Amino acid sequence: MPDSKAVDSRTILTRLREVLSEPGQGQGQERLDRIVKLIANGIVAEVCSVYLKRDDDTLELCATQGLNADSVHRTWLRRGQGLVGRIADRAEPINTADAANTSGYMPIPSTGEEVFSAFLGVPILRLGEVLGVLVVQNRQNHEYSDDVIYALEVVAMVIAEMAELGAFVGPGPMEIARQHRGSVFARGLQGQEGVAEGVVVLHEPHIVVSQPISDDPEHETRRLHQALDALRSEVDEMLSADYLTAKGEHRDVLNSYKMFANNKGWIRRMEVSIQSGLAAEVAVEKEQSDTRARMSRIADAYIRERLHDLDDLSNRLLRLLAGMEAGSGRDIPENAILVARNIGPAELLDYGRKLSGVVLEEGSVGSHAAIVARALAIPLVIHARRITREAQNGDHILVDGDQGLVHLRPEETVAKAFREKIEMLTVAQEKYATLRDKPAKSRDGITIDLHMNAGLMADLPSLPKCGATGVGLYRTELQFLIRANMPRRSDLAALYSRILNAAGDKPVVFRTLDIGSDKVLPYMNRVEEPNPALGWRAIRLSLDRQGVMRMQLQALLRGANGRPLTVMFPFISQVSEFETARGLMLREVDREAALGHPIPETLRIGTMMETPSLAYAPDKLFKITDFISVGGNDLKQFFFAADRENELVRRRYDSLSTSYLSFLERIILRCREFDTPLSFCGEDAGRPVEALAFSAIGFRTLSMRPASIGPVKAMLRQVELEQVRELIEGARYDGAESARDAIEGWLTHSGVRF
Ligand code: PEP
Ligand code: MG
Repeated sequence: MPDSKAVDSRTILTRLREVLSEPGQGQGQERLDRIVKLIANGIVAEVCSVYLKRDDDTLELCATQGLNADSVHRTWLRRGQGLVGRIADRAEPINTADAANTSGYMPIPSTGEEVFSAFLGVPILRLGEVLGVLVVQNRQNHEYSDDVIYALEVVAMVIAEMAELGAFVGPGPMEIARQHRGSVFARGLQGQEGVAEGVVVLHEPHIVVSQPISDDPEHETRRLHQALDALRSEVDEMLSADYLTAKGEHRDVLNSYKMFANNKGWIRRMEVSIQSGLAAEVAVEKEQSDTRARMSRIADAYIRERLHDLDDLSNRLLRLLAGMEAGSGRDIPENAILVARNIGPAELLDYGRKLSGVVLEEGSVGSHAAIVARALAIPLVIHARRITREAQNGDHILVDGDQGLVHLRPEETVAKAFREKIEMLTVAQEKYATLRDKPAKSRDGITIDLHMNAGLMADLPSLPKCGATGVGLYRTELQFLIRANMPRRSDLAALYSRILNAAGDKPVVFRTLDIGSDKVLPYMNRVEEPNPALGWRAIRLSLDRQGVMRMQLQALLRGANGRPLTVMFPFISQVSEFETARGLMLREVDREAALGHPIPETLRIGTMMETPSLAYAPDKLFKITDFISVGGNDLKQFFFAADRENELVRRRYDSLSTSYLSFLERIILRCREFDTPLSFCGEDAGRPVEALAFSAIGFRTLSMRPASIGPVKAMLRQVELEQVRELIEGARYDGAESARDAIEGWLTHSGVRF
């Protein structure tokens, strides 16, 4: 029976280091054989075996001291099968005096393990990922002491680091020890359309530790504490107002960082690991691995979030220890595809045009990062599970934002098929480019005015390129969202002026601040609301806190500097809100005039129609507003009572639903009655079939992302809108819930590609 007092992980690690540094030591197999022998001796175990993952679901016995040597590379276990499979599945140790009577026991006769009663197995974990299982066994019935468990965990940590470094890779069967080499396919969600091929750039690169074992714990402890000091200053700096939004962080996350960075238990555990012989980096990783393993077992969303915060903090600490930079300041290769767990809008903007695509493990379609990806016109896939663990800097990667798919280290056949798709899209883009200066005129002679949506200065170069006749929706909140603190009036005025300069003689419709709901400004006090989408947002907030809106209206007037200006207010639910907002604008105009500043040559003040109530507003609304723009993203979510951010319901209702189209027709009729100019600026306007249907029922102005202008124009030019209108009426007459089948069937039949 092992004497637990004699078990000192530091001694084992010191020997391990000696063995590893012996010159001329052999290939991966030989290395692993020596390691199991050394552990068996150190722990006084009759058996020591290493099982490594062969694929996601199978473990292979790769080295043993004490079991039948013939069974090495001939013994496989599925995840969850037997005690070893269970350890891998749950990422938790099993320690039992009586293996045969332990639930899940399933001896493999060829190994000869039935005679060993005592069993201790620990997962070989790297950053929460199970790479294998390390087992010791003895004949005599006894449980292993906590010291032995700890020692084995520490050794497993080093084995994991060495596996990452490729230390066990050898010819023949040890090929399986190659980490992160096979191709990986991840099915995520579409964040922004487009496809790209490129190389992985990890937003937060992994640290590879070349010396996992240290013989100078004092030195390592000092390094840890220096890094912790630097970490605390970093967190304090991030908590300062200047930093807060610049990096897209939120105060509660930073407060949770601060709490962890001072957590005595966390620090103590890392110190103990260092004392047991681990390098400081590996001591941090050991904690991180445990956190990640816990994360995968915890269902409570709040606790999982906090564990995520701790995981992020560990990454920062690791980078400080390794003196490594993260973020956009590094050298970024060509065709870079950014891979991150999540990213704030300002950070994504910093990478800017250096990126060809983005893959996020989390994120949401309406997130600020998604808005920025849209502005940069690069494909974005969100919810790509485990991608940050699998991907390595420099890996070959294919991103399909149309389908929400990612191929990491793809097989050549997959890459080839993918390139064909890119090729096809390039041909289509070239075709759209030839249409750039042609009108979006249907075959029955109806011209639709196609505008583009924008939200950043970075969008403006697209205006001449895409062939839009103007900017139909300029979302001004992005400037507020990506900054550290409230922008100054003079900065905003300068920006609005640059936007008007860039647009030249093409009109720009500025929408005033639309914050609240998902768009939270971290430098404003956050109000907890039970249902933010229905809450204190957009114009409601602006009218209750008029200071910010007045400042913005002044900035718009100064930016226009006498030029024509068009402004619209978001989320108006009743006519009085529009009247008040319009009154504020007119008051600012008078004020500017009184101050001797130029006032716009023409001023148009419009309203967005985003709540169904406004469609039934008194006639007065249609008379006093200079125009109406339908914000279909919000309008549709309220029409169907289906959250636009919620993946479970957001695609559930069709925008070509006959009821929704009838509702839109009602809006068109009311606008016609009063000659109120009308446009549609939600995402649906950029979907060719939807654009066709909206034009057929009477919309004459559509505003969409720049990349959609070409496809929508190409579609409109091929059809007679009157025919589409008849199809919609036919669908309604037939009692169809949606006109989609009728329209798409007809398009296919007519040979129109969509
Ligand atoms: C809309 O709701 O359709 C809209 C254009 O506004 P946003 O998407 O910014 O809410
Ligand atoms: Mg909206």
